[in-house]
Amino acid sequence: MVNRLNAYGGYVAELAEWPGIGDEDLLVAVANTAHGEQGEQDELADAAGMRTWWSGLGLGLPAGADPRRPDAAEGLAMLRALRAVIRGLALRNNGVDTELDTAVLDGLTLRLDLRGAPSLRADGPADLVRDVGAATVTALLRACARPGWPRLKACRGEDCRWVYVDASRNASRRWCDMAACGNRAKSASFRRRHRVGDPTTST
Ligand SMILES: [Zn+2]
Repeated sequence: MVNRLNAYGGYVAELAEWPGIGDEDLLVAVANTAHGEQGEQDELADAAGMRTWWSGLGLGLPAGADPRRPDAAEGLAMLRALRAVIRGLALRNNGVDTELDTAVLDGLTLRLDLRGAPSLRADGPADLVRDVGAATVTALLRACARPGWPRLKACRGEDCRWVYVDASRNASRRWCDMAACGNRAKSASFRRRHRVGDPTTST
C-alpha cells in the first residue's frame, strides 16, 4: 500500500487493487456518480454506464476480472445504496443530520483479503461492480478512521449534495462552490429573515 500526502495534510492510503486512487478520491468519485437537481443523471443506472464511468477514471479492471462477465443488477443496486450512505455520512460531516439506509447492503458479502495490505474483497466470482463496491467499503472504513475524515463533506445545497474534501485551513467549507450553492443559500435565508411583516426579523 502506498501512502501519499494530500492537499489537507492528512495521509491518504491508496488502494492496493487500484494504485493511483486514494480512499477519499474513490469515495468522492462514487458519491458523485449522480448529478442534477433530482439525480436525473445517474452513471450507475446500468452496467454499461457504470463501466463508462469507471473507465473514465483510468483505473482498469481488477485482477482476475473477466471484462465480458455481465455485472449483476443487484451489485449496481448495492453500489447505489453505498453511494447514498457515503453522501449521508459526508452530509453529517457538514453538520446536516440525515437518515442512512443500509438494508440493500446486507447482500454485499465480503471476505478478508490478505494478498497485500489487509483489505476486503467481494465474495464470489470477480465482477467489476462488486469489486468496486468492496474497494469502496474498504476505503470508507480506512478513511473514517483517519483524522481527516470530518473533511469529507457533502454540499449543504439541498438540490446539490456534491461530495468534496474540504481542504480549507480551518475545515469550515460548507458548500461545493460559494459562487453557486453558497450564495443561493445565503440569498434564500436573507429572504426568509427579511420577509415583510416577519416579527422575528431583527436585523
Ligand atoms: Zn453545492
